[in-house]
Formats: sequence, C-alpha cells, structure tokens
Amino acid sequence: MTSQRTRDRLIALLREMGIQNEEVLRVMRYVPRHLFMDQALASRSYENTSLPIGHAQTISQPYIVAKMTELLLSDFVPEKVLEVGTGSGYQAAILGGLVRELHTVERITPLYRNARELLYQLGYRNVRTHLADGSWGWEDSAPYDAIMVTAAPESVPEALKQQLAIGGRLVIPVGGDDGQQELQLIHRLSEDSFTVESKEAVVFVPLLEKIN
Ligand code: SAH
Repeated sequence: MTSQRTRDRLIALLREMGIQNEEVLRVMRYVPRHLFMDQALASRSYENTSLPIGHAQTISQPYIVAKMTELLLSDFVPEKVLEVGTGSGYQAAILGGLVRELHTVERITPLYRNARELLYQLGYRNVRTHLADGSWGWEDSAPYDAIMVTAAPESVPEALKQQLAIGGRLVIPVGGDDGQQELQLIHRLSEDSFTVESKEAVVFVPLLEKIN
C-alpha cells in the first residue's frame, strides 16, 4: 500500500489536476509520506487527502502541498525559505529537497519534536526546526526569499511580510476558520510595495498564537 506503484498513481493524479513543475513531482514521488503519519493511517498515505496527525491538526492534502510548492518555485529559485506550521514535517521534507536552506516553525511541542526527529532520521541537514509562534516569523534568519504558511490567519501577519526579501514571495491561506479561506500569492516588489494574487479556495486549520 506504500509501494512505488501506489506512489506513482498519486503523481499521475497530481499531473491530471494540473501540477506541472517536474522538480516538485520528482520530490513528491520519493518522499515517503507514510512515515509522516500514524502507522494506523499509513495505508491511506498516498491518497489525495488530508489526514489527522493528532493535536487537532492535519497533514495537508498532497495536491495542496504540490500546488503551494509550485507557486513558491515558479520561474524562481529561492535559496532560503521559511515554513510556518511544521505539523508532520511532510511539507518541510518536500521543500528541503528543493531549496538550499529551510527554516520551519511549529507551536505545538510534541509535533515539533516528532517532525524534528523524523527529518533528522531521513537525513535532512538543511532543514532547521524551531518551536515558536510563527505569526512572528523567525526573525533570526530573516530575510527569506520565500515564505510558506500552512495554517490560516484572518489577515496576513505583518512580521511575515517584513521578513520577506525584496523580490521574495509569500504563499498563505487567508480567512477565518469557516472554510472561506483563499490561497494568496504575495510578491514583495520593494521596501513597502506588495502585490497580492488570489489563487484558489482552500481549507486549512487556523493559525493560532503562542506556543503550546
Ligand atoms: N505543513 C504541515 C501542515 C500542518 S497543519 C504538514 O505538512 O504536515 C498546520 C500546522 O500549523 C499545525 O501543526 C499547527 O499546530 C501549526 N500552527 C498553527 N498556528 C501556528 C503558529 N502560530 N506558529 C507555528 N505553527 C502554527
């Protein structure tokens, strides 16, 4: 159920759904998603669905992981990237296979610990995990060429915009937790000018404050 054939079927489905970036598809084909969730759910790990990872959180749907990664990378090679919402660490593993340096921030201690351990075991030495409230970004390593947020705030936190390099981009779901979020792609053109494009309707857990 976690065989290469099962994984290849998922990749074929992502292509049918419009994912075109070959690098993204290549990395998603080899990262073992079944290791990022409870063993009881592993048989479903190559279905195109989000699944629970405990603490009322979920590992994102593969299509959304692919789509957000593709938006972050299109015609652009970000070197230093920040992810807010480590969760299972799956999205971090995908990004870790594509960029030079990834920082990822999680607010729930057990999720942070699990993801940190697993990413280390899998050999990701370019992924730095941090336990913190990511609404404040991760100031120590800013600015970032790209930032990806995998939990939804009601509005875009100012700190994240300020930690973006000039020319950098931010992919973020924005909206309340009533299922009305939209995925936004934000470009920082200069010190104080940003463009915002709305991409598609999405459903994410809320971005919450403070560590837990
Ligand atoms: N990228 C994850 C998706 C996890 S779901 C994956 O691939 O599995 C979103 C995650 O964001 C949850 O783990 C949640 O605890 C975390 N989160 C929510 N608000 C946060 C905040 N302010 N700072 C850091 N992480 C946050």
